[in-house]
Amino acid sequence: MRRKTRQIHVGDVLIGGDAPIAVQSMTTMYTRDVDASVAQILRLEEVGCELARVAVPERIDAEALGAIKRRIHIPLIADIHYHPDLALIAIEQGVDAVRINPGNLLNGRESFEKIVRAAQAADVAMRIGVNSGSIDGLDRKGEEMRKISVKLLDDGTFVKSDPAEERRREREELVGRMVAKALEYCGWADDLGYTNYKVSLKSSNVMTAVEAYRKFAAACDVPLHLGITEAGTLVTGAVKSAIGFALLLADGIGDTIRVSLTAEPEEEIPVAYEILRSLELRSRGVTFVSCPSCGRVEIDIMTIANEVEKRLAKVQTPIQVAVMGCLVNGPGESSDADVGLSGGRGKGMIYRKGKHIRTVPEDQFLDAVLQEVASQLPEWEANLIYPAGGELGKLSFGRTRKTGIAGQIGESVTASSAPLAPHPTTAGASATAVAEPETPKPSGKRGKPLPILPSDN
Ligand code: SF4
Repeated sequence: MRRKTRQIHVGDVLIGGDAPIAVQSMTTMYTRDVDASVAQILRLEEVGCELARVAVPERIDAEALGAIKRRIHIPLIADIHYHPDLALIAIEQGVDAVRINPGNLLNGRESFEKIVRAAQAADVAMRIGVNSGSIDGLDRKGEEMRKISVKLLDDGTFVKSDPAEERRREREELVGRMVAKALEYCGWADDLGYTNYKVSLKSSNVMTAVEAYRKFAAACDVPLHLGITEAGTLVTGAVKSAIGFALLLADGIGDTIRVSLTAEPEEEIPVAYEILRSLELRSRGVTFVSCPSCGRVEIDIMTIANEVEKRLAKVQTPIQVAVMGCLVNGPGESSDADVGLSGGRGKGMIYRKGKHIRTVPEDQFLDAVLQEVASQLPEWEANLIYPAGGELGKLSFGRTRKTGIAGQIGESVTASSAPLAPHPTTAGASATAVAEPETPKPSGKRGKPLPILPSDN
């Protein structure tokens, strides 16, 4: 059951209470580069990002926030460290929330209260971010504790301490201090009558973060932003986030999430939705099922599965799509989905809501799956799959395993699909097709080097 929290709002997005768990991300552009930041946020919007956070390390970044805000459609959150003045400028610029770690704010509580008063007056939300890395002296303490791994007793015997027990005690202490700090900061806000805030308790160690969130959740009703900081590259980060979030979300803890990846932020959003869909907490978009392939595979399942998933990335309607690599186990999974392909040598069976509706040759697999999905979507979404021209383009199938005679004699088998025919639902609809929104071209990911400031991501 979902933990009962008070509800806050970040712009028009509700957080906590019975609101859906919101998905957010953070840009990788310099915020001062307004065009690049806007372009990236618009791309994030397209794949379902609901809240966008931007780093504000300097005044020039803070002063760019209003220009960004005016060109995007989702709430904007300013991420501020150290300098309270940057938070005050961000609020003046019209951001929807500021993310503050009171533990690293110059002049601590005094500065925090100034920001709270400004946020209160402007109806701006706040995330109070506590990070294990910014808890005083813990690292030093941890080193000291780890050194005492062998003790000499009075009777002259040695006792080796249990590293697992040491680690557990260290973590317990760290978690206790993180939660105590977070509750102290919440008290500062509450004393001013300000309640439109959420809290995060991040650590790059998954279990430390999980325990901190659990302990904090048991102590109060403040909504929680979940994040595993510095989670890692695409695979590492996705796995660490999925484990941490699942342990918490399955217990009803968590009101907004960000999957932190060392990757393009657009890649964070599908991972976040996949986690939420797997836990049956959100249903948005495509639940994609594809077989891992094995020695029975008869089609280029990897190319087809990846291409189908890519083409359906912007779909918001909940729909289950299965792509299976052979006619042995394929029909079972395909028939459970809204749209299914069970591929066989040279031909495949297409399923719609459990019914086998047609058999298509291999060069039409992709087109047939996309046509079936499109036919089950509203027209504007069908047009995201089938752009107004109706031309899907060619897809080359390089088989992952040599098959048939060609395989036996060692020839590589590669087939290219013929140009694909326009889909019937869109072929005549180009006049009414919804064009994809134009996004400004980013002016470059990075400009001149800037001083690197530690940031909680
Ligand atoms: Fe192997 Fe067929 Fe199962 Fe795919 S569907 S893993 S090819 S048995």
